[in-house]
Amino acid sequence: MRLTAIAGGTGAAKLLRGLAAARPRDTLTVIGNTGDDAEIWGLHVSPDLDTVMYALAGRLDTARGWGLTGETFRCLEAMGDLGAQTWFNLGDRDLATHLHRTRALREGLPLSAVMAELCGRLGVAARVLPMSDEPVRTRVRTPDGWLSFQEYFVREKAQVQVLDVEYAGASQARPAPGVLEAICEAEVVVVCPSNPVTSVGPVLAVPGIADALTGARARVVAVSPIVGGAAVSGPAGALMRARGLSVSAVGVAAAYAPWLGTLVIDRSDTGRVAELARLGVEAVLADIVMTDRDREIALARVVLGSRSPVK
Ligand code: GDP
Repeated sequence: MRLTAIAGGTGAAKLLRGLAAARPRDTLTVIGNTGDDAEIWGLHVSPDLDTVMYALAGRLDTARGWGLTGETFRCLEAMGDLGAQTWFNLGDRDLATHLHRTRALREGLPLSAVMAELCGRLGVAARVLPMSDEPVRTRVRTPDGWLSFQEYFVREKAQVQVLDVEYAGASQARPAPGVLEAICEAEVVVVCPSNPVTSVGPVLAVPGIADALTGARARVVAVSPIVGGAAVSGPAGALMRARGLSVSAVGVAAAYAPWLGTLVIDRSDTGRVAELARLGVEAVLADIVMTDRDREIALARVVLGSRSPVK
């Protein structure tokens, strides 16, 4: 089966691990968010792509949800001694990824080629495509002005009020090679349980991607990152509110209309099924909080089993 997933970072990583374990022989293509890429100490850091890559390589620190397992932070300490900014935590071995990527980008390789090489080196069987090779940067407007996504999320720990969100550069960006084909040729498109505003939103803002989803012959299945009236983790609730979306499975469905076919929601959200039907979205009830590997695989099976026949 040809499977294509749209992914952010921590929430996506869990479902992707489940999908890869549930259907190891299937062709999995991941379209990853680069809206929260950042330059740290002169290095190009792609947090969401790397979270996905490390997860699929079996190297993700699952307790933290980001970075490499068994990581140390000696370089970060030393950079602090030199007076550098240390609010963005770069681990010692993780630095090798950023050094390698930054050098390759400076030599003129596109990000998609760099990711293919890195994934090959780490033994990742899936294709991990950036949504675009061109820069798109998510920015958050607060009462004190605009912040880059990482300034908002890591430096300010998402504790500042969000007034608006923008995807700078998106209108000029083109989908990376293979992205539109992966959507058009997929038998199932999975939208991972990721932040609808700052993980999936930037992907959809790249011209052509939402149209490809609308035209896809596959049924598009999303997993809600919201249970009841709150995100499973992180600031998705505040960001959805800032975008005028209700913080609920219905708000998630509204963000993904008109191309969403099925939304997998938590069993406790059974009261939302009728509202989702009114939006033209079929609801599937499941245990959607992935607290261990078995739950990741079980949810992946629900997602794959919920697809309707190819249109
Ligand atoms: P980020 O870029 O690291 O924030 O990663 P994502 O956007 O992929 O993941 C964050 C989102 O995933 C948040 O909105 C969470 O509510 C959601 N999330 C995290 N863990 C789970 C889970 O186990 N199940 C579900 N359904 N959502 C999750």
